[in-house]
Amino acid sequence: MTVGAVLYSPALRSDTDAMTERIVPLISAEAIQTRVDALGAQISADYAETGSLVVVSVLKGSFLFCADLVRKIDLPLRIDFLAVRSYGEATKSSGIVQIVHDLSRPIEGEDVLLVEDIVDTGLTLAHVIELLKTRRPRSLKLCSLLHKPARTKVEVPIDYLGFTIEDKFVIGYGLDGPREHYRNLPYVGVLAGE
Ligand code: 5GP
Repeated sequence: MTVGAVLYSPALRSDTDAMTERIVPLISAEAIQTRVDALGAQISADYAETGSLVVVSVLKGSFLFCADLVRKIDLPLRIDFLAVRSYGEATKSSGIVQIVHDLSRPIEGEDVLLVEDIVDTGLTLAHVIELLKTRRPRSLKLCSLLHKPARTKVEVPIDYLGFTIEDKFVIGYGLDGPREHYRNLPYVGVLAGE
């Protein structure tokens, strides 16, 4: 018996099985790619004088967005990854952000573009930006796929933004849902009933 046959055996399905969850698309794969094209063109133009760039993907949520975006940036660039974990209640400004995977090289004197999946309360990115500033990059800008302004606790300037969305918990295109599933969806959606 193949692994697939075991995973999707009706006998093994439960109420929380992904097969029972219905996803309502919010931003289509086509709309995302159109926006990514435009962001890539804008970033390429803005950094044309600079010559090079360090793109920092904030994991895990931005991995798909960043992979698509860098292919639309027509400049020499290097890519690095930063994984962070937030502690405490997300609604408290005292929430601590721990780095679980740090950058592989220093960014001093570099033009850095931080790529994030979503700015929700802004607390995580506010901490990340403060931290990266202590490493003295030449410039530090932020590109976020999504922004939920209704949830803002800390204003974080977003230099390049994909889409503004309402206060809904979204999944797909890198963002996780229940059991950390759904990051592989090519579109952004919400779970039915959310
Ligand atoms: P913030 O610190 O801005 O409140 O949120 C930081 C992180 O929370 C985001 O990078 C993202 O990983 C997660 N997050 C916030 N809103 C959503 C959402 O609607 N869906 C998912 N899947 N994650 C979210």
